[in-house]
Amino acid sequence: MDRTNQPRVRFAPSPTGYLHVGGARTALFNWLYARRERGTMLLRIEDTDVERNRPELVDGILAGLKWLGIEWDEGPYFQSQRLDMYRSEAKRLLVSGAAYACYCKASSYAGADAAPAADSEEEQEGEGDDEGPKTRKNVACPCREMSEADRAAREREGVPAAIRFGIPRIGATTFEDAVFGSREVQNAEIEDFVLLRSNGLPTYQLSVVVDDLDMRITHVIRGADHLSNTPKQVLLYRALGAEPPIFAHVPLILGPDRTRLSKRHGATSVSSYADEGFLPEAFRNFLALLGWSPGDDSEFLRTSELMERFSLAGVSRTNAIFDRPKLEWFNTQYLQKLPIEDLLPCVADELRRANLWNGSQAAADPGWFARAVDLIRPRTRFLQDFTTWSRGFFTDDFDFEPEARAKFWKDERLPGMLGKLADALAALPEWNHDACDAALRQLASAEGVKAGLLINATRVAILGRAVAPPLFESMVILGQDRVASRIRRALPALSAP
Ligand code: GLU
Repeated sequence: MDRTNQPRVRFAPSPTGYLHVGGARTALFNWLYARRERGTMLLRIEDTDVERNRPELVDGILAGLKWLGIEWDEGPYFQSQRLDMYRSEAKRLLVSGAAYACYCKASSYAGADAAPAADSEEEQEGEGDDEGPKTRKNVACPCREMSEADRAAREREGVPAAIRFGIPRIGATTFEDAVFGSREVQNAEIEDFVLLRSNGLPTYQLSVVVDDLDMRITHVIRGADHLSNTPKQVLLYRALGAEPPIFAHVPLILGPDRTRLSKRHGATSVSSYADEGFLPEAFRNFLALLGWSPGDDSEFLRTSELMERFSLAGVSRTNAIFDRPKLEWFNTQYLQKLPIEDLLPCVADELRRANLWNGSQAAADPGWFARAVDLIRPRTRFLQDFTTWSRGFFTDDFDFEPEARAKFWKDERLPGMLGKLADALAALPEWNHDACDAALRQLASAEGVKAGLLINATRVAILGRAVAPPLFESMVILGQDRVASRIRRALPALSAP
């Protein structure tokens, strides 16, 4: 198949932090775009900033993307393995006259040898926004106008040189952003930025453009914190003899107080949401609506629908607000509404995580597992609910909740009555909801107590909790032998509540 006209997008995290919500949202938009347009998504690790990189974080970023279900088609590529290419492109710009050698000491000229300043919070798009043009006036680097003789002298002395881009003195740089529309920046506002540091390492501006060209990226979809880097990159594309790709900057994610999302607002790393028991699909649905809208008020959008409906036209310029209660709402919706076969693998993972899977009935009997999950899920908000309060469905190893004991095991007649209930249940010729119900009510009336007394006490005995699914349905799921033996097992504890 000829793929030359198909979109190619990339997600390009810097391993300077964990995969955070902002990065995950950028990755998701790229992925949805690629899937919608039948294009290709690349993963590129931007690891040339030796001071800020932490290579050990790469695995965590990959794991975060995998948990989110985002599958890239090519890569991961590592910029640290492509240094020769950046160096040779910087040299090419030097030779063509678009760039010049700069011998300034790092401190002698604002921004001389520095990487783009990271934005205030590392939580968002790692490399951040280079606010250079606004914060530093375009102080011309003296090296730009250096005479050939001075240059030759410095070379002879072996003064280390950076390679700096020579911004045209006049005119303006314009580009069309698919989200933010036409943008124009006066060239006089842009400083001569460094392409290659004197230590031979590329800056972000150089490596990102060289790679996007080499990897034939057609659409750069990334955080709006990179908008102010874009004019520099556009100039760089042109100096390299190429047309820039289409840019689509997606709005920032803010906390409820409208400041940039950061740890102040709670967890920002994707892995902490995985650990908390969010469903990947619910998280995707929530993230997709941070800065994108399908154009109507639909909210519950399964991933297949997101893939069909995602478009850059639906991305808004307005900053998105990270609303944790909304995320929880999505999670509850997914726990409740997903077709059971889509939920089971997630619950199975959660049981594995809690060491409740191997050797369990859940693993051995898929039909039983589906019925158990269906019974439990109306009361769940997080995946952990399957291994905390409802763990009694999956293992005999659970505690009796102290508050439940205190509240429902008070009556001293209970040990005797529950002993009889265990016998009656064990003797039932058929095991179903109505038979269990009848056996319990018969015993209650014979003993002259309310059925509720026995129902509540039995629930604590067989599941350890006061709040659990309806008793007789739970009994059916647990099975006759297990119910009778759990009640008997609870009797000593019942005698000493
Ligand atoms: N590595 C950059 C970041 O993490 C992304 C650069 C880009 O998408 O152009 O912010």
